[in-house]
Amino acid sequence: MIPSVLPTYNRAPLSFVSGEGSWLTEEGGDRYLDLCAGIATIALGHAHPALVAALTEQANAVWHVSNLYRIPQQQALADALVAHSFADTVFFTNSGTEACELAIKMARKHHHDAGRPERTEILTFTGNFHGRSSAAIAASGAEKMVQGFAPLLPGFTILPFGDHEAMREAVSDTTAAILVEPILGEGGIKPLPDQCLKGLRDLCDEHGILLILDEVQCGMGRTGRLFAHEWAGIVPDIAMVAKGIGGGFPLGAVLASEAAASGMTAGTHGSTYGGNPLACAVGCKTLEIVSDPDFLAEVRRKAGLLRQKLEGLVAEHPEVFDSVRGEGLMLGIVCKAPNTDVVQAGYAERMLLVPAAENVVRLLPALTIGEDEIAEAASRLGRAASALTSRKTD
Ligand SMILES: *Cc1c(COP(=O)(O)O)cnc(C)c1O
Repeated sequence: MIPSVLPTYNRAPLSFVSGEGSWLTEEGGDRYLDLCAGIATIALGHAHPALVAALTEQANAVWHVSNLYRIPQQQALADALVAHSFADTVFFTNSGTEACELAIKMARKHHHDAGRPERTEILTFTGNFHGRSSAAIAASGAEKMVQGFAPLLPGFTILPFGDHEAMREAVSDTTAAILVEPILGEGGIKPLPDQCLKGLRDLCDEHGILLILDEVQCGMGRTGRLFAHEWAGIVPDIAMVAKGIGGGFPLGAVLASEAAASGMTAGTHGSTYGGNPLACAVGCKTLEIVSDPDFLAEVRRKAGLLRQKLEGLVAEHPEVFDSVRGEGLMLGIVCKAPNTDVVQAGYAERMLLVPAAENVVRLLPALTIGEDEIAEAASRLGRAASALTSRKTD
């Protein structure tokens, strides 16, 4: 009999009743060190007092009015995002997937309205993940996501990851945009080299096509800069954010330059819940905290500590771990043992890790993780690796 919850997830037999900072507590009182952070959404840890206060205050005022009216919290968040980024304008969504949908529509409409309706093609790299809508799976092309869901939305060409030459050759008169994640998240915490991002920017400028960056996972301070593309010293035309921007409350956004957004006039796009007062009240507080240069410097410092510890673990457990990659507090351990075994061994040590493609285990802790918790994470990972090693030699 089919479960009452559609069984599209293989869930761990864990459930949590409360959370605080980097810790989650099960009903029986067992505490887990959370290096998943709701898949990079809980940017400021669980139950951050400032976010609880912002949400509670808004909950007592007004929840939802729709976008038929002005929403001051949405206006404030848009203003703050514009002030802190390349963007001139912002549209709010409830998720990363919806942000992806708009980014694609916006790019096509931009060219359409500029008298180039033939420019509809979006070029991407393999390994990218943009969500589970028909457009997002077509943009990713990954077999496990698209199989059985044909016909796929046309207009996407997927090139080998990081292959700049292939990208250059694929550009044609029908190209609308290049869409990439600066650092693959689901794809295995794989950074696109700065050189490649710069090259893509140049390629777009050369041919009048738009650069769309998916910063849903790597954005909002996760790499120690507010946006991952800042490391490469480039700006996109359109960027998608979600996950961390809501601090755990569902919220996403498309950031765009005035030129890229030129086709999006009244009636061309919408969302009932997008940019609602609750989400934006939390988003404003989250952005205020995360965009503080001192906060970001602290993320970079702690990221250095965590990375150093992980490199040490790789050296100590070469039969389980292969290498470390990623940026900031978006780190992946490439495993030699099956990554799902490492995640399981993590559960036995009361620690939450996330598997990703290419046999990677992801560490996406709250950006507020403490030094003692970083040390705790390293010792639990070490014990998990030892348990896997002894199991292997038994
Ligand atoms: C999670 C993710 C998405 C999809 O976001 P949802 O909120 O799950 O719809 C898109 N792009 C990237 C890079 C992601 O990590």
